[in-house]
Amino acid sequence: MRLPKAKTLLPLLFAAVMLSRCGCDFFGTTGALFVSEADEEKLGKSFDSTLTNSDSIKAKGEYPVFAAKSADSLALQKYVQDLGQELLKAVPADDRPDYAFHFTLIDKNVINAFAVPGGYVYIYTGIIKNMKDESELAGVMGHEIAHVTNHHYRDAMAKDGAMSLLLQVLLGNDSGKLAQMVGQTFYGLAGLKVSRDNEAEADFYGTKYSGSTGRNPLGIAKFFGRMPKDGLAAMLSTHPASESRVADVQAEVAKSTSLTALANDSANTNFASRFQQFTAVLKK
Ligand SMILES: [Zn+2]
Repeated sequence: MRLPKAKTLLPLLFAAVMLSRCGCDFFGTTGALFVSEADEEKLGKSFDSTLTNSDSIKAKGEYPVFAAKSADSLALQKYVQDLGQELLKAVPADDRPDYAFHFTLIDKNVINAFAVPGGYVYIYTGIIKNMKDESELAGVMGHEIAHVTNHHYRDAMAKDGAMSLLLQVLLGNDSGKLAQMVGQTFYGLAGLKVSRDNEAEADFYGTKYSGSTGRNPLGIAKFFGRMPKDGLAAMLSTHPASESRVADVQAEVAKSTSLTALANDSANTNFASRFQQFTAVLKK
């Protein structure tokens, strides 16, 4: 669905800002709908440019982009990007934003993945190193894609004190000023925390998307179930989990005959050997 251009909605937007002060959560839900996909894309692009190019961000070394220089590392990067595009095809057309998605590896031993509005998804090499097969990677990537397609990060931004940035995106055509503001709020955007309800929704859709590609839909539950909680500290700081998260995914899969059949298919190897082959470069 195409949303009306935000500028035509300014009076409503400011009403939303005023309402948000009364604690009735207008902006975080209905109000955030005034941010169009084009606005999300503009914001995501600016964030990605900062992550990739900013000298001060690079100097801190928190988001080092994976340097695909050797044939093996190029193959791993392409493998992750291709899996992302395959998962996107599983998203129903009506739910898929118009913008392109970008999947970037962050070369750091952190067990996390995150995204920002506009289809920019980042996966740490540290999370991949702890996975056993493609169903686990597809589960986590499907989960991140679902956060974007359901606009969770945009809504989190509206609730998370990044209102001024949101307004800048809506009001401004000055890309230089937007880049400056993204620079100022970079860590806030990278660490946007979604709600537990959003987490459950991302698990639900991510499980469906990865199941639609033929991988075991319990991949994400398998991964989370195996990891000790302290190992998942980074992931849980941006993706808060309910105690029953694994059980909830299992219950959703149990409701679907086709997903249950996939989960129980012992002949389905979830491309474990291919996964090990492509990711071996991370263990060198
Ligand atoms: Zn999440």
